[in-house]
Amino acid sequence: MSHPDCIFCKIIDGQIPAKKVYEDEEVLAFHDIHPAAPVHFLVIPKRHIVSLQTVDAGDAPLLGRMMTLIPRLASEQGCRPGPEGGFRLIANNGKDGGQEVGHLHFHVLGGPRPWKI
Ligand code: AMP
Ligand code: ZN
Repeated sequence: MSHPDCIFCKIIDGQIPAKKVYEDEEVLAFHDIHPAAPVHFLVIPKRHIVSLQTVDAGDAPLLGRMMTLIPRLASEQGCRPGPEGGFRLIANNGKDGGQEVGHLHFHVLGGPRPWKI
């Protein structure tokens, strides 16, 4: 399951430290090492899925659960509620999509602006 050259698999396996935000059997969330906003964490599946380019219908329950988890974690991490608050959700997929780490991840960014991105 875990990919030997994958930095995020190494975080899942505990070989590389990370500031964890949330963990369950299928999902891990941790702070981005180079935050681009006051709140910036990553939500990843524990299974090594490369990107949204490689998901199939069987992954729908996992992806759906991640989508419902993200607003809860955003709020817990300090993203403000309501239309004046909110958060940005980014998934970079493949080289053209700007993906640098080849393990599916959702960036969650929030907090008072301005941000870097
Ligand atoms: P992407 O360009 O979408 O592949 O983003 C990869 C993200 O992973 C970047 O925002 C990096 O700052 C972040 N990152 C890389 N290594 C680590 C690490 N060891 N711990 C936390 N975040 C990391
Ligand atoms: Zn991986």
